[in-house]
Amino acid sequence: TTSLFMRIRACFPGDLGKTLIETPDGSRLTYRDADEWSARYAHALQKAGAQKGDRVAVQVDKSAAALFLYLGCIRAGLVYLPLNTAYQSQELSYFVADASPAVIVCQPDRKADMDAIAGEKAGCTIFTLDADGQGSMTVAASGQRTEFMPVACADDDLAAILYTSGTTGKPKGAMMTQMNLWSNGQTLVNLWGFGPGDTLLHALPIFHTHGLFIACHCVMMSGAGMIFLQKFDRDQVIDALPRSTVMMGVPTFYVRLLAGDDFNAGLVANMRLFISGSAPLLPETFSAFHQRTGHYLLERYGMTEMGMATSNPLHGERVIHTVGPALPDVEVRVCDGEGKVLASGEVGVLEARGPNVFAGYWKMPEKTREEFRDDGFFITGDIALIDDRGYVHIVGRAKDLVISGGFNIYPKEIETEIDKMDGVLESAVIGVPHPDFGEAVIAIIVSDGVAAITESDIISHIKLLVANFKVPKKAIFVAELPRNTMGKVQKNILRDEYRTLFS
Ligand code: ATP
Ligand code: MG
Repeated sequence: TTSLFMRIRACFPGDLGKTLIETPDGSRLTYRDADEWSARYAHALQKAGAQKGDRVAVQVDKSAAALFLYLGCIRAGLVYLPLNTAYQSQELSYFVADASPAVIVCQPDRKADMDAIAGEKAGCTIFTLDADGQGSMTVAASGQRTEFMPVACADDDLAAILYTSGTTGKPKGAMMTQMNLWSNGQTLVNLWGFGPGDTLLHALPIFHTHGLFIACHCVMMSGAGMIFLQKFDRDQVIDALPRSTVMMGVPTFYVRLLAGDDFNAGLVANMRLFISGSAPLLPETFSAFHQRTGHYLLERYGMTEMGMATSNPLHGERVIHTVGPALPDVEVRVCDGEGKVLASGEVGVLEARGPNVFAGYWKMPEKTREEFRDDGFFITGDIALIDDRGYVHIVGRAKDLVISGGFNIYPKEIETEIDKMDGVLESAVIGVPHPDFGEAVIAIIVSDGVAAITESDIISHIKLLVANFKVPKKAIFVAELPRNTMGKVQKNILRDEYRTLFS
């Protein structure tokens, strides 16, 4: 008998006194702490009535205790369900009603809210946990025994439900099995060369797959350590880099690091690897990063629904503008709308299959059926091409594709050209309703504040480069693009805002 927890536990170092988590205030938590506290939380959760397969919804600040609580959940065979700390009451009532958790763990200042949302639900216990790891959850756990016989689970039992980022619409609950998480963690440890000598600089949130599974599993499955920052704080990151060996981040982290000269080759002399993902990395960032530090950012691609699916190599060429080949145990292909597999170099929708691919969307059997092919491939909804070497190039999201006058327009093609212009920091190209064309392309621009640039500069320049139907009908300057916590540009918000531009 085994389980995800038992497998992770077996990867802990022989010396449990080894530091697992270090925080900027100097506190250190060891693998023994992880082992003992996960046992205590497991007991406390069971005593609160949670039984194998029950959901434990957790909306708390990042802390070592929150990670140990996750371990406690999987140790007790419970389904961990983390929630973005930004969600407000109305959103929370949707998640709580959707997931019907047996236990909710929330920030102390959300307790009254949670009582109102879930208080009447029979059999739902609400605990609190604050940013320092204190609260009624910890009180309930602290008297418990430090041993707990892990609950055995089958490979396809659920370990977690993770909601997607909600970049394209309402977040969907992705059901992750024990094997999904174990296999992907193992694969990444090997692929990225994680070992006991590593210290991961961890500045990501832990309610999302990137910070929770990709980051923490790589560490715990290789006996490494990590420096846990509450959030991305540039000064704290600069401070921690000389003691770290690997960093995982969203592209905005690297943009912000490059913004000051104190980020340079000397500072990162101890680093062996910088990994980027969750949103597209601009080629300028990739190049500037190499120029400044000598490191090639390793860009990889994944989704909540499957963890990681492709990655540029640790050894071997990291190709700019690509997310690398499929992971060793993952298959990828590009298909047209009917599911016909396309030749290399052709643009279509990316599909993936492997032990990492989720078991379906929670309580959405229809949606699940729509997103899977009969042969088990998951339709990612990302538009991509695979080149001759097997490297995947992400072109954009199917939902962001613009169809103007019957022609397909991939926003990224236009954004790439606009971003190259002097005076432009970044851009988002979207389609908005248009009486003649169905949709019209417009460009939303953030200027770099250095060189002057106007709407007509942009439009006349793009006209020289691409077919007329792709040229933005308008270029609108804004102070910044709307982004969610994972650094993703929320084009749905932009589309809403400019919906009536041509009507
Ligand atoms: P929702 O599904 O709710 O609209 P989301 O797709 O943003 O939100 P996530 O699962 O967090 O939620 O993100 C997965 C998506 O992030 C991928 O489908 C892809 O579009 C994007 N992504 C991840 N890594 C990369 C990358 N390296 N380059 C480009 N896009 C990426
Ligand atoms: Mg998605």
